[in-house]
Amino acid sequence: MKLEPGSSEWKSARKQGLGSSDMKDLLELKPYGCPRKLVYDKSDIPPDWAFTGNRYTVRGHKLEDVVAREFAEDSGWKLTRAEDQDAIGNAAAKELRESYFWLKSNIDRRITLTDEQRESNDAAIPDGPGVAEIKTVGKTAWERLEREGVMAHTSFADWYYQVQHQLAFTGWEWGMVVACHPDEWQFSQTLILRDEFAINEILKAGSKLWAKVMIQRALPAGEFTTVESMPRLKIKDNRCRSCPWRQKCHGEDWTDFIGGGHEEGMGIFGDDEKWKNLSERYQLWKSVDDEHQENIAEIKTAIKALIGDQRIGAEGAGLKVYWKSQVSKRFDTSRFKKEHPALADGYLKETTTRPLRIYTT
Ligand code: SF4
Repeated sequence: MKLEPGSSEWKSARKQGLGSSDMKDLLELKPYGCPRKLVYDKSDIPPDWAFTGNRYTVRGHKLEDVVAREFAEDSGWKLTRAEDQDAIGNAAAKELRESYFWLKSNIDRRITLTDEQRESNDAAIPDGPGVAEIKTVGKTAWERLEREGVMAHTSFADWYYQVQHQLAFTGWEWGMVVACHPDEWQFSQTLILRDEFAINEILKAGSKLWAKVMIQRALPAGEFTTVESMPRLKIKDNRCRSCPWRQKCHGEDWTDFIGGGHEEGMGIFGDDEKWKNLSERYQLWKSVDDEHQENIAEIKTAIKALIGDQRIGAEGAGLKVYWKSQVSKRFDTSRFKKEHPALADGYLKETTTRPLRIYTT
């Protein structure tokens, strides 16, 4: 039976090994992955802030059935809820799972095709059943998906490896990523074939990481030497900002990074409902904004590549872009202060401002 995400059975099964949703952390895939975080999680080290899911994870879970049904109706393919996860897969896969006992899975759907359906499909689909990995995505991811597809954009590497993980688990030869953009009710399907190289990568990295988890688990409570021996990301990395172990991981550096500890004169609004609501909304829109900024940066890079050596820029199709060299002269304040301190002081004008700085603690 596929376990209900968030249920106690699901939580305890997650601790038994590495599932497909762990691939981004295992292989440090952008934009969210961090192997160190995975060791914290699997070793049962209590997080500084509990992650109880967000609106996106709830959306994905609630819409999974609807998307699977819609895809099945549209394609005529048979999608069934994966039965007993331990029973699923061929004999070779079951043997593999004995050696790689940490290899666990919670497959969304199993796809079964008739010979006719297989033959009439545009791309060649290997024999046997396939796995369906169902995704719901927001506008930014949908735009990337339409523009470049699962196989070309690095932000979908996570999906690719999730399917490869499930193919390792089942021994099957193919999988399908079914993505839905609910706002505009659009769908896409991407066929992913078994990739032995990627599967070996997963098995190698998984065994290494699981050994660390076992050692860390055997340590006395409060001793983090194994996880501490792993590399950590730079503190400014976006992944740390939302990591439930960020304080434990970066220690004092994190306190400094977020502007120091509690200062006198600073209010504490932790229990205030309005404050909580604003905090939640700020974090939600900040993450949306970060994603948009990433998309805009990608578009700018592509525009520059297209303009190439056009000296001034280019225009057309509703855009006018200037990209020309310019020389600017700036007053070197630091040097002036250093060389003429008395004179510089005489020109200092005091103004008072009150900048709003927001940190995710
Ligand atoms: S704080 Fe950053 S480096 Fe540390 S575990 Fe979390 S994501 Fe990884």
